[in-house]
Amino acid sequence: MTSTRVFLSPIVSEVWKDVEKPSKVDIFDTTLRDGEQTPGTSFKTDEKVKIAESLDRLGVSVIEAGFPANSPEEERAVKEVASIGLRAKVCGLARCVKRDIDACIRADVDRVHVFIATSNIHLKYKLKMDVEEALEKAVDSIEYVKTHGLECEFSCEDATRTPYDRLVKFYTEAVKTGADVLNVPDTVGAVDPWGMYELVRRLKRDVGAPISVHCHNDFGLAVANTVAGVLAGASQAHVTVNGLGERAGNAALEQVVAVLELMHGVKTGVNMGMLTEVSKLVQKYSLIQVPPNFPIVGENAFSHEAGIHVHGILEAAPCYEPFPPEVVGQERKIVLGKHTGRHAVEAFIETRLGKLPEDLMDEIVMRVKEVGARKKRMLEEDVLAIAEDVVERRMEREKHVRLEEIVVVTGNKVTPTASVQLRVGDTVKVAAGIGVGPVDAAAKAIQNALNEEISLLKYDLKAVSGGADALAYVEVLVEDLTGERAKGSAVTGDIVMSSVEAIVEGVNRLYVRRLRKGG
Ligand code: MN
Repeated sequence: MTSTRVFLSPIVSEVWKDVEKPSKVDIFDTTLRDGEQTPGTSFKTDEKVKIAESLDRLGVSVIEAGFPANSPEEERAVKEVASIGLRAKVCGLARCVKRDIDACIRADVDRVHVFIATSNIHLKYKLKMDVEEALEKAVDSIEYVKTHGLECEFSCEDATRTPYDRLVKFYTEAVKTGADVLNVPDTVGAVDPWGMYELVRRLKRDVGAPISVHCHNDFGLAVANTVAGVLAGASQAHVTVNGLGERAGNAALEQVVAVLELMHGVKTGVNMGMLTEVSKLVQKYSLIQVPPNFPIVGENAFSHEAGIHVHGILEAAPCYEPFPPEVVGQERKIVLGKHTGRHAVEAFIETRLGKLPEDLMDEIVMRVKEVGARKKRMLEEDVLAIAEDVVERRMEREKHVRLEEIVVVTGNKVTPTASVQLRVGDTVKVAAGIGVGPVDAAAKAIQNALNEEISLLKYDLKAVSGGADALAYVEVLVEDLTGERAKGSAVTGDIVMSSVEAIVEGVNRLYVRRLRKGG
């Protein structure tokens, strides 16, 4: 992955050229805590462990594994995540109450994330507390965490709707008490990128200490606000995989990482090639599918529709891609169909099946357009299947010997007798034969119809599966009078049919060889 493969608007570097950007940011993933608060989502302990392991391989710095005081099960799940020896730090959430912090301590986390609401609306209606009381609880809680030798992250819940002077007071006291990270939650997504940028810039100036941002997506600005916070100097960003979280969710990890890394050159420590894989794992366990047009990891994020775009993409992918899909573990998909030009279909088929005769290509393009008109969306695989089908039918038509009919009579008081009707080229040949058994009789009938001696050098029968209804797999080696040999095989539910089809296939191969030799 090189930056030369990323093609962005030049105004981005122009705008930021005189601004000092951070070189690195810590990714704090809260998929297992805020993400689990997605309506309808709940992770089992083993699912939390699997997600945590994959986040760890992805390279996030901190994993918020849950809210241990919530229930004994939750405490056990967080403890389990904390016990598996991850490289990432494991964090637990706690309100500013002793029992919440105790649950985190029992869960053996590396970091306790304590929070208390500081906005007027939360203090008045939710906490029913005054500012001084809330500040005292915050200070006591941070102190309690620190006396237990753990890292402490402190959040003023609803920070973006809290009077600025009050925020400075809380965060200043928090730092004095020993808080290691100051998190700034935009709890209801009530700020815009310019506001977030300014808020973080001022807090850095007035409080110092490592700042973190936690943004919600109520206006669809979570990612933009997070990026703005980081560019203003926040050294940590809270994110969730697939943007899971309360209501409209949190900032999506994949998007935040892609923007910071690819647009701004800010290192996140994330192995970007794993983004799609991790997204899929979380989709599976959260039971929340991302929409097809979801950025970075969505099904359509690198799909190209018919016409001009496909033409452009086939010439040079950057025409319609800001960066190649492999960068984020995705694949490019070409959607072909009704409106696809012949050029695009041909170019695609050639890359997969090689150069084909003109008339065969005509047939493929026609079929693709036919099916495309009925089907909304055709992916490369669909087109490939059509092309292969057309090619196979053509081969079938050109087959020299075809079995049209076969009747076999057998029993304990009759001589096994078979009659066959074969089409050899344009002529129909009918003949009968008798043998020691039904397969032998069928083989003789075929020989008689072809009017030449074809000997069966090898005959191998295998039941593919057990039981009376097993499939019969037959492999034969046939030889003609010139000593030319060919193999044939077939699998059907009937021993005689498999045998006959295998012999016919072998005979066809003999004929093809003769044709090639000009015989
Ligand atoms: Mn939240």
